[in-house]
Amino acid sequence: MKAAIIKTVGSIEICEAPTPVLNDGESLIRVIYIGICGTDVHLFNGNHPTAVYPLIPGHEFVGELVESKGRGSERFNIGDTVVAQELFTCGTCDACAKGEDNVCNELSIIGVHTDGGFAEYVKVMTHKMYRLPKDIDLKLAALTEPLAVAVHDVRVSGLNVGETVLVLGGGPIGLLIAVVARLNGAGRIVVSEVNEYRRKFASDMGFDTIDPASDGFDERLRDMTAGRGFDVSFEAAGAPSALSTCIDHTKNTGVIVIIAMTSNAVAVDTGKVFAKELTLKGVRLHSQYNFMGAVDIISGGALSSDLQKFITGIFPLDDVAEALETVRSGNNCFKILLEVK
Ligand SMILES: [Zn+2]
Ligand SMILES: [Zn+2]
Repeated sequence: MKAAIIKTVGSIEICEAPTPVLNDGESLIRVIYIGICGTDVHLFNGNHPTAVYPLIPGHEFVGELVESKGRGSERFNIGDTVVAQELFTCGTCDACAKGEDNVCNELSIIGVHTDGGFAEYVKVMTHKMYRLPKDIDLKLAALTEPLAVAVHDVRVSGLNVGETVLVLGGGPIGLLIAVVARLNGAGRIVVSEVNEYRRKFASDMGFDTIDPASDGFDERLRDMTAGRGFDVSFEAAGAPSALSTCIDHTKNTGVIVIIAMTSNAVAVDTGKVFAKELTLKGVRLHSQYNFMGAVDIISGGALSSDLQKFITGIFPLDDVAEALETVRSGNNCFKILLEVK
């Protein structure tokens, strides 16, 4: 099969690669569209802590089922339009037993630890695969995985109807969180983002925005909730000061959800966490149940008009290097897809 392979850090090439061989309980998907994620850029740049090279990256795929072996295959038909949670898990550890497969002790992520979907075919666990309606918009369906991240993050936060939300970081994940929070009935939603293009993007989608690098940032952010603070804050920026902004601007007994991966340890003012009785929650990927939530949102079309706006470019697989460079530059692009033929 044709595949884009990162052989060494900083170089990606279109090559011939062996088509994945299925074991019992696995399925083979012919990739049609696949989103490029910040993780893929990290893999390309060599700053992913656990990646193994050479590697075919890519985990935000939608495609057509071409083969399914053994367990679970009876639930599908060849030719189904499918998406899949990009995880291989053990199914037996304590986390798996609790349905928290995203923190499985033996977690292996497709496109990070095993070959991903920047290729004609990708192999998945059949029981983590879901059929989409025949008439689904395949480009929107490629957003199922990042949407699942947002569904997971909002559900973990425990956000209730009418509550106020602060999102730090207005990239694709931050804005998907904002969109899911709105669907969930949030009151006011404020997106804090330093990049002007992304700020405009968020405000065009109907969110209040603020530039964290601007003068009087803290005071204006305080004014946005009339000094009361936010019920829930999402740290999706990864900037050194972002967590302390969350601690300062989340109201007493509020919840802070930590999404951003930072390479350096971040200091926490535990005195404030104590005094305000804050809850800090880490989130990783998405549990299978929350992935199913994203599948249902995509299938039902509840966010279609919002999600349509996310996709700002589509490149053929052959132009993967240019596509990655576009995402890396962050210039005037939001979500970029690869089209695999
Ligand atoms: Zn992703
Ligand atoms: Zn497990």
